[in-house]
Amino acid sequence: MRKYLIAGNWKMNTTISEATELVNSLSNGLQKMGDISPTVLVCPPFVNIPKVAELTNNTQIKIGSQNCYFEKKGAFTGEVSINMLKEIGCDYIIIGHSERRQYFNETDETVSLKLKKAIECGLIPIFCVGETLEQRENGKTKEVILSQVKIGLSKLDYAQIESVVIAYEPIWAIGTGKTATAEDAQDSIKSIRDEISATYGTDIASKIAILYGGSVKPENANELFNMNDIDGGLVGGASLNVSDFLQIINYKCEDI
Ligand code: PEP
Repeated sequence: MRKYLIAGNWKMNTTISEATELVNSLSNGLQKMGDISPTVLVCPPFVNIPKVAELTNNTQIKIGSQNCYFEKKGAFTGEVSINMLKEIGCDYIIIGHSERRQYFNETDETVSLKLKKAIECGLIPIFCVGETLEQRENGKTKEVILSQVKIGLSKLDYAQIESVVIAYEPIWAIGTGKTATAEDAQDSIKSIRDEISATYGTDIASKIAILYGGSVKPENANELFNMNDIDGGLVGGASLNVSDFLQIINYKCEDI
């Protein structure tokens, strides 16, 4: 069975005191919900990770970072290595988020280096791909996302690929309130799974988790996450609102 995952990307939000309040409320809410099927994780800003890790110790909440650098250490001012993140409690790392690609010159090549390093260091990468509105309108969605997938995974061997989590995030749907229809999201995600199947085989394709991200809200979570190939979500804005995030986590799963 594939992993089901709901990941909250806090982006550049929350001071330490705000992060403390947010994660404590989330943890209390999850405790009331009892056993839940998806893995839940939050990705706070780097500086809040140690505090959030301390507060989530012995809870079902896992921690991810929003970025990393692919070198182990050295003269890379301002960067953070994967080993540093592992030591402070991260299990996951978001890699290649469109905001990193758009504002910080992240390329398919640096994404592939980061994916390789994350896997080698034992962390689970959440590898983001997605098309712009212009690319979608020009009928290039699949070409773009499949090329991102292909280059991103190119440095990994077969055994490493199934531990990657892919997040399909159409850029025009991130933080805009516009969501891909469940059918469109399913269609793009299925094309990613088909590509993986063609390149690496059906066994790996059937095991790799692929998430949807882009304005996921309590109102659309059920429909999106019940699509055959969608294995959960990467949630930005709504993960900063505990009530919304809990409702998303508690989506009514009809097929597992
Ligand atoms: C994201 O940050 O990955 C994201 C999908 O954001 P939002 O849910 O706010 O669109």
